Amino acid sequence: MSLPDITDEELRAVSDVLRSGQLSIGPQIEAFEHEFANALGAPYACAVSSGTSALHLAVIAAIDGGPRRVRSLPVILTSPFSFVASANVALYENAVPVFVDIDAATFNIDPDIAVNAIRDLKDGGAACERWLPRSIRGDVQLSAVMPVHAFGQPCDMDPIVAAAAAAGVPVIEDACEAIGATYKGQLAGTIGDAGVFAFYPNKQMTTGEGGVVVTRRSDWASLFRSLRNQGRDVFDSWLNHSRLGYNYRLDEMSASLGRVQLRRLDTLLANRERVATWYTSHLSSHELLRLQVISPRTTRMSWFVYVVRLDAQVDRDHVMALLSRQGIPTRPYFSPIHMQRFYRERFDYRRGDFPVTEDAGSRCLALPFSGLMTESQVTYVSDALVSAVESATTRRSA
Ligand SMILES: *Cc1c(COP(=O)(O)O)cnc(C)c1O
Repeated sequence: MSLPDITDEELRAVSDVLRSGQLSIGPQIEAFEHEFANALGAPYACAVSSGTSALHLAVIAAIDGGPRRVRSLPVILTSPFSFVASANVALYENAVPVFVDIDAATFNIDPDIAVNAIRDLKDGGAACERWLPRSIRGDVQLSAVMPVHAFGQPCDMDPIVAAAAAAGVPVIEDACEAIGATYKGQLAGTIGDAGVFAFYPNKQMTTGEGGVVVTRRSDWASLFRSLRNQGRDVFDSWLNHSRLGYNYRLDEMSASLGRVQLRRLDTLLANRERVATWYTSHLSSHELLRLQVISPRTTRMSWFVYVVRLDAQVDRDHVMALLSRQGIPTRPYFSPIHMQRFYRERFDYRRGDFPVTEDAGSRCLALPFSGLMTESQVTYVSDALVSAVESATTRRSA
């Protein structure tokens, strides 16, 4: 489905670290954080062991740093059309992820719905109830809004940020799929109070496993550094711990790999954009395929995956089986979070709760995608897709 783009430069950087003998808490992570913050124009960057741990730290900062009414349940407003980690981090803190449906064209949360939900959840009381999962009743408190920039396209941030500011709650951007993307010229991840990036090998840049949380809040930055390092504060000695923390450190090999990938990021993104453009030119005029709509507010797309939405008459499983026979892997992407078994059981979600998300979840298909694909590979996949879609269609009789 994807392939990391690793050159001799990355190999050299990682073996230099291995030869140095300093494999954790060393100069590489500091340099990586410094370079990452500079590249994004963010005041602080904290590198951690994964995108998920970065999201977790941001959620801890929002919940513990916010005002807290007694006996009220913290909630995080987010998208059900995402990777499961973006909602799981709320559960780690015994908070409730509250979903709002997405916009059918961009796959990002619908800003009008999000604005209404933020206002109602802030007011508390009866107005909240229609946004909460069936199994949750009682006093809740909005702790953060977490828009997810799905597939590398930024959410419509202005109305979301304004509503969050009016409600006095922080915005955490899940920018794990959107490094380098811009919204009205602003880099994804630098618009809210914190922005989270992930470097798993299928992402635009990789550290193997790894992630970064950027923030413009110095109090959050110090908290992140302490939490990732077993709750030590900078002035604590090795076996002194100021708070409950985690081992979310990024090792030196990963940080050195990340430094090289970051230097090459513009090339990595340009290569992916070239591949996406090939796909688009092959697939855009087909009546049974819908491509992702790029909003005019998206001043730069950061291509993470290439997803097509199949027409309702097309049998997706059949398409996948036909492609698989020709050696072409594909994935349904995303699988809506509220339909995952443990979410359904815990929150009593039912089919129909988020119809736009469910429709996207049942018809979207991610194609093989990386910056290393050649034009002939893209042509091969596109041709195979078009014929698979045509033979997997139950045409309504006229
Ligand atoms: C990849 C991803 C994550 C999690 O990143 P990991 O590094 O795999 O923990 C979170 N949210 C979204 C939207 C992602 O795509």
